[in-house]
Amino acid sequence: MSAVREHTAFEEVNLDCDRAAERLKLPSGLCEMLRQPWRELRVQVPVRMDDGRIEVFTGYRVQHNGARGPYKGGVRYHPEADQDEVRALASLMTWKTALVDLPFGGAKGGVQCDPSRLSVNELNRLTRRYTLNIEHLLAPNRDIPAPDLGTNAQTMAWMMDAYGQLHGHSPAIVTGKPVELGGSLGRDSATGRGVTYILQEVAKDLKLNLQGMAVVVQGFGNVGSWTARLLDQAGCRVIAVSDVKGGVYHPAGLDVSQLLDHYSASGTVAGFPVADSLTNAELLELECDVLVPAAIGGVITAGNAPSVKARMVLEAANHPLTPEADAILKQRGILVLPDILVNAGGVIVSYFEWTQNLQEFRWEEERVNQELHKILVRAYHEVRRKALAEGMTHREAAFEIGVARVARAVQLRGFV
Ligand code: NAD
Repeated sequence: MSAVREHTAFEEVNLDCDRAAERLKLPSGLCEMLRQPWRELRVQVPVRMDDGRIEVFTGYRVQHNGARGPYKGGVRYHPEADQDEVRALASLMTWKTALVDLPFGGAKGGVQCDPSRLSVNELNRLTRRYTLNIEHLLAPNRDIPAPDLGTNAQTMAWMMDAYGQLHGHSPAIVTGKPVELGGSLGRDSATGRGVTYILQEVAKDLKLNLQGMAVVVQGFGNVGSWTARLLDQAGCRVIAVSDVKGGVYHPAGLDVSQLLDHYSASGTVAGFPVADSLTNAELLELECDVLVPAAIGGVITAGNAPSVKARMVLEAANHPLTPEADAILKQRGILVLPDILVNAGGVIVSYFEWTQNLQEFRWEEERVNQELHKILVRAYHEVRRKALAEGMTHREAAFEIGVARVARAVQLRGFV
C-alpha cells in the first residue's frame, strides 16, 4: 500500500542532514551550504531510435558537494529519475563517502528513460550522447560516475569510450567497468557483499545466529541478486525475492542457485517453480528476520510501515524508507540500518577501482574483499557505538558522522 509522500525525496534527505547539523550546532549558513548541490546540469539527450525516429530524453548530473574530494556517484536510467530524485541521491553520496571516510564528494546522474524498452544499440547511443553532454563536468580528479539502477558495467564501458574519444584512454573516468577494461575484481559483487558484512556484524552484536535466519530481498538486479546469493552462502534462509515483474516465496528457503539460473534464462524471478508467487507489496509485509529493500526508493511509507513484520531492515537500496516510515519502524522497535552505511560497499570498491586505475595496477579479489571488510566494519562500529552511547537511531548516528566530516572539510579549506 502506498501513501502520499509529504516531502520530495530531496527534502526527505535534507531532513536527516538538517537534524544532524542541528545536533552539531553548525552555523545556519554552513548548514545551507551543506544542503544545496554545488552544481547541477540538465541536458537534452536526443537519440536516433532503431526505427529511424528521434526520441529526446532528459539527463542530469548533480554535483552535490566536493569538499572532501572529487565528486563520486552513479548514473541511473529510470522513468522516475528526475531532477529532485537525482539531487536526493547525490546528497546521499556526500554523506555516504564521508561516513566511510573515502576521499570523495557526492554526485549522481540520471537519464529519465525506461532502459527495458530500449535496444542495446539505442542504449549505447543514449549513453554516448549523455556522456558527451556532461563531459565538461567529468575528469578522473573531478567527477567519476559509476553504475546504479538501470545501468551496469556495459554502460560504464560506453561512457569510458565516449569520454576517451575526446580525452584519450581514461579508465579512471568511471568505475564499475568490465574487468577486461580496467574494472576491479570484486566490484560487481561489492554492494551485496557489503550488505552481508553488515548483517554479520549486526548478528554478532545482537547474538543472533545467521544460520537459518529468514531473509526477504526486494530487487534482483546487481545489489539484490548478490545479496541473496551471499546471504544464502552465509547460511541464511532466503525465503522471498522479487523484481519489477513480481516475487516468489518459499518459507523453507528458495534454492538461490537454481533461482539465478531461472533469472538468467527468463530475465525475471517471477515464475520460478517450487515457490509461490507474490506481489512486491506482499513481499514487504512478510514475516522474516531481515528485510532487504534492494530496488527503488520510497517503497516503505506511512501506509505499509505498520504492516512490516521484519525484525530488522537493511537498506540496500538508496532511500527505501520515507521519514514517516522510519519513525513508525523506530516506534515499533524494528532496527533499521541506513542506506549510507549498508550499501556503501559499492562506492568503497569503486574507490579501490579508481586507485588501481590511477596506479595502473590490479589487486587480487581477496585483497579487495579484505579492504572492503575493514572499511565497512569500522564504519558500522563507529555508527553503532554512537547510536548506543547517545541514544539515537543508526541513521541519526550515521548522518551526524558524515555531516560533521563534510562540515570540517569545508571549514579547513577556508573558502567560506
Ligand atoms: P539494477 O538495475 O541492477 O536492479 C534493480 C532491481 O530492482 C531489478 O531487479 C528490478 O527489476 C527491480 N525493480 C525495479 N523497479 C522495481 C519496482 N518498482 N518494484 C520492485 N522491484 C523493482 O540496480 P542495482 O544496481 O541493483 O540498484 C538497486 C538499488 O541499490 C538502487 O536503489 C541503487 O541506487 C542502490 N545501490 C546500488 C549500488 C550498486 O553498486 N549498483 C550501490 C549502492 C546502492
